[in-house]
This record gives sequence, C-alpha cells and structure tokens, in this order.
Amino acid sequence: MSEHIYTIPINDHFGKADGCALCSLFNMLERNEIERITGAAMMEPDVRIQTNRFGFCERHFGKMLLVGKRLPVALILQSHFEIIRGELERKKPEGQGKYLQELENSCYVCGRIQEQMDSLYGNLFWLWSNDRAFQERFRAQPYFCFPHYRELLFYGQKHLSKKDYRIFCAEVWSIETSYLETLSGDIDWFCKKFDYRFAKEDWKNSKDAIERAVYTLTGHMPEFRSEISTTI
Ligand SMILES: [Zn+2]
Ligand SMILES: [Zn+2]
Repeated sequence: MSEHIYTIPINDHFGKADGCALCSLFNMLERNEIERITGAAMMEPDVRIQTNRFGFCERHFGKMLLVGKRLPVALILQSHFEIIRGELERKKPEGQGKYLQELENSCYVCGRIQEQMDSLYGNLFWLWSNDRAFQERFRAQPYFCFPHYRELLFYGQKHLSKKDYRIFCAEVWSIETSYLETLSGDIDWFCKKFDYRFAKEDWKNSKDAIERAVYTLTGHMPEFRSEISTTI
C-alpha cells in the first residue's frame, strides 16, 4: 500500500492512548471541514452546489456559527433557501414531506467526514494487519465510544479476512469489556454516594460517571455537569 495521508494522524492519535482515539480523529476531520466550509471553499461554485443540496445538521450549523463569520454563513443560507423554496414549490405535499425528510437527514459536513472516515478505516486496518508498532498502540487503547466500537466491527468485517476479523474482534472486545466494567463500577458508586451511609466516603473516580456514560453511548461529551452534592 502506498503511504496514505491518514496513517500519520492514525499513529499520532492512537499514540496518545487518551480517550477514544477515533473520536479524536473525527474531531480533527470535523475541525478541518468547519474551517474549510466557513473559509475559502464557501465561495467555490462546486461546493455551493453541494451545500445547497445537502444542507447541514444542527450540530454543524452550530459549529459553523461558532467558528465562522456571520456573512459567509448567511450567504450559504441564502442560496440554500433559494433551492429549497424552488424544490418545495415544484412538489406536491407528499413530495414536499419526502424532500424535507431527506434534507433533515443529510449534512454536507457529515457526508465529507464520513467519506474521509471510510478511507481512514481502510488505513487503520492496513496498519493493524501490517505494522507491529501500531498493533501494540491499538492494544493499549483505553476504550472506544459505542459509535466507534460499532464502526470498528463494521469496517473490520469489510477490510479483514474472516480469520483476522475474529482475532481483531476478540482484541477490541477485551479493551471494551474491561472499560465497561470500570464504567459500570463508577456509575454504581455514583448512585451509592447518594445513600446517606456512603455520603462521607470518597467519590473515587465516579464524579463524572454520568458524563462519561453519556459520552460512551453517543460519542459526544454532554454539556451538562453532574450535580455532585449529596445533600438531597
Ligand atoms: Zn469515539
Ligand atoms: Zn453534520
């Protein structure tokens, strides 16, 4: 395989062994895409055709408004609405419903990230199959969030032989199951702390158990913070 641009970031992010390495790679791609779309790419006619068609999800509208200037975002919205109005005017109510449902489920940024994640997984499984240093890095991961654990299982099936896939699944499951044991223990302890008999005990690692549990389930850290006072 020719050296692909993704083997370097994969090695870097898996080298940190801090949190879900695939979230960390996803965040890098997402940052790049948001900067790109609110920068020079915004004026490119090819890109505009795509953003007019696919639009953006709530998460990525939010990020664009956070990072980008107001005018580029307004210009994207201006032509996006022009296209949407044209489509709605041409369609009957059932067609309008179908069109709007498709629009709700599509996002230009999500689509671009997914394309890059596809190539990234191809590179990841190449490294896992061929590079001893990466194999060790992989085994040293603390955990994967569920969305990325699921993707590892899915892409692994696509990229590995049946025999290698079985080995890979056992390896990634041993990472995941030991993490889930720890996380469940932390959630249990968090709940126990609200029982007066344990109120004076140490929190151990459970203070952010709710946040970590939600993160594991969704791949995104929630914005709320747990109420850690036990004076209920
Ligand atoms: Zn993740
Ligand atoms: Zn999106």
